[in-house]
Amino acid sequence: MKFDSMFDLMETFPNEESCVRHLEELRWPTGVVCPLCGESRKIYRLTRGFLFKCSDCKGQFSVRKGTIFEESRLPLRKWFAAAWLITSNRKGIASTQLAREIGVTQKTAWFMLGRLREVAIAIGDMGGPIHGVVEADETYMGGKEKNKHASKREHAGRGAVGKQPVIGVVEREGRVKTQLIESPSANEVHQFIKSNVMPGSTLYTDDHRSYLGLTDYQHASVNHSAGQYVMGDCYTNGIESFWALLKRGHYGIFHNMSRKHLHRYLAEFETRWGMAEAELGGRARMDAMLESASGLRLTYKGLIA
Ligand SMILES: [Zn+2]
Repeated sequence: MKFDSMFDLMETFPNEESCVRHLEELRWPTGVVCPLCGESRKIYRLTRGFLFKCSDCKGQFSVRKGTIFEESRLPLRKWFAAAWLITSNRKGIASTQLAREIGVTQKTAWFMLGRLREVAIAIGDMGGPIHGVVEADETYMGGKEKNKHASKREHAGRGAVGKQPVIGVVEREGRVKTQLIESPSANEVHQFIKSNVMPGSTLYTDDHRSYLGLTDYQHASVNHSAGQYVMGDCYTNGIESFWALLKRGHYGIFHNMSRKHLHRYLAEFETRWGMAEAELGGRARMDAMLESASGLRLTYKGLIA
């Protein structure tokens, strides 16, 4: 069943059992696999709770075992609602708002959003490099200049002091990939593009010098410093729209998007952008998050380390 509102979501999943069954289908589409030993030969559903028993290792487990849902006893309905909300709001959702919407403490909501952002990172990593017609650009994220110490402000060059440079690429009508960088030097820019864009792709940028010499691509640029923004098919409006959305989210919702967490926020925005471009409906977006959350098992230890 499709749904596009929180009301539909709650009707489709009226209780814990309906959520457990759905998560089981997403996690084990071809049959239950024991998360403890990896066997799938003799697994029985126990009548008590939502537990399975594995005849090979004698272990018991539920669908939460080894996923982001394991370490909290929150009802899955609240996780489903959080996954729906984080993928439905274009600019994201603040932990204070999520707390009100699903009836948890702000601390719990913050924890849930953090875990869902780890899922977003995993989704981004699974996608591999982008290709086709690609736009690249860099921007600066971070504190507002008026809050910076005066002596630092005086030495500001092009508004970059105290801000975090971010580079990004977007595939036209496709995914975005971003990365925090030290500075938009040719070295860092080339490294990022080579690991995130397939050779042979068309690459559109502005006239920043760091984009010169990318010989593996059909590279063309618009001369922003001379006021040129479009030259035929060559423009960078897509990646600029992404930066604009990110910044509206940053200033409007995430008042303290610290440098430490910035890459997670970026992954969240990237995932949502890709889902919107792929025209996924509300349910498909939520399922993509839930399915990836279940598949995080192997890398989960690394993610929380
Ligand atoms: Zn087992």
